[in-house]
Amino acid sequence: MTTNIEEARKQILAMVREFVDRDVRPAAAQHDEDDTYPTALVDQMAEMGLFGITIPEEYGGLGLDHSTYAMVFEELSRGWLSITGPIGTHSILAHALAHHGTEDQKRRWLPGMATGEHRAGLALSEPGGGSDVASLQTTAVKDGEEYVVNGNKLFITNGREGNIFFLLAKTDTTIEPQHRGISGFIAEKGPGFTAGKDLNKLGYRGVDTTELIFNDYRVGTDNLIGGEEGKGFYQAMDALETGRVNIAARAVGVAQAAFDDALAYSLQREAFGELISERQGIQFMLAEMATKIQAARLLTYDAASKKDSGDRFDLEAGMAKLYASEICAEVTLDAMRVHGGVGYIKDLPLERYYRDAPLMIIGEGTNEMQKLIIARNLLKRARAKG
Ligand SMILES: Cc1cc2nc3c(=O)[nH]c(=O)nc-3n(C[C@H](O)[C@H](O)[C@H](O)COP(=O)(O)OP(=O)(O)OC[C@H]3O[C@@H](n4cnc5c(N)ncnc54)[C@H](O)[C@@H]3O)c2cc1C
Repeated sequence: MTTNIEEARKQILAMVREFVDRDVRPAAAQHDEDDTYPTALVDQMAEMGLFGITIPEEYGGLGLDHSTYAMVFEELSRGWLSITGPIGTHSILAHALAHHGTEDQKRRWLPGMATGEHRAGLALSEPGGGSDVASLQTTAVKDGEEYVVNGNKLFITNGREGNIFFLLAKTDTTIEPQHRGISGFIAEKGPGFTAGKDLNKLGYRGVDTTELIFNDYRVGTDNLIGGEEGKGFYQAMDALETGRVNIAARAVGVAQAAFDDALAYSLQREAFGELISERQGIQFMLAEMATKIQAARLLTYDAASKKDSGDRFDLEAGMAKLYASEICAEVTLDAMRVHGGVGYIKDLPLERYYRDAPLMIIGEGTNEMQKLIIARNLLKRARAKG
């Protein structure tokens, strides 16, 4: 790592840490309770440049590496998981455009995405299924210089607040295998493209997750990512690798917040005449929590650094996402155990961490899908060795 990158990383992490402690943590409980969008916090993130963390500097972004990107997501999630929502799938479209878009498309959208003027989402999952991407039903039929899009998307984060979306739709419904018929578009909100109502979620509250409805929506051929049909599945799978790193980093951040609270509580709560931190049962729990978090963090940083070195990293991203999300659920429950009854009450954030944790098990490919990806890659590598 060059000194410049090191310095830029140090600066942005210090800025984000201060933002989290000063502004995010005090506001999170109310937004979570009321399920209200944190507009002021999101505007501050835009001012800090967080909408453009990995967007190359030549397109107006901060141009930071994926290791820094992971650390920023971890730090934000230590404050409140939902605050990462507006920049999460946004960064997936940014990645897809930067790596697969034409020069015109990069110049048209990346600068606005870097400032947060364009707020992006990922329109992949549908009512009929999310894991089996190849069988998606939304179609885009060419009509002169436009495509006519019809179909519904479900569970789309930033569905209401976002204005541009990485839309996956079939331009060929007959080709086999089916994924070769999927194309990637930049869909801008307009006639024929509306968002449904916000879904009422267990956790990850305050950030909008909606249905998207495409009813004879017209999108220009110049919005076809890379200008080529049939590439959408590959573009999405490539961009989702970075999405898995951000999910893993979010899980580490939430688990760290739960652990920090549990450790602090154990040092002040007394039972049977002494601090509970003196009890071996509590010490063992703390030791296991901290060890799991550190292992998840190292898996996450390892996957991010593989991305930075330019290697394929779907195996590492899958492992990081799988492990970090599973331990996040375990650690948030254990942190609640350390708190006893008060951990179950909404006055403390413990129950929020516990409700937020399962999103990381489901989002950006369920953990069952991660196991399939990990196994496929292990077998491929073993076969390649002979
Ligand atoms: C809060 C939230 C936000 C989201 N945000 C977005 C977003 O912004 N954009 C977007 O496109 N999607 C988003 N999603 C959707 C998410 O990616 C999907 O829910 C997820 O991919 C799973 O798809 P599904 O819900 O259709 O479950 P299904 O695919 O129906 O799976 C159901 C169960 O079957 C298992 N399963 C399926 N296939 C296999 C298999 N081959 N082997 C073993 N097990 C299998 C799954 O692991 C799961 O346990 C979001 C979801 C939530 C809850």
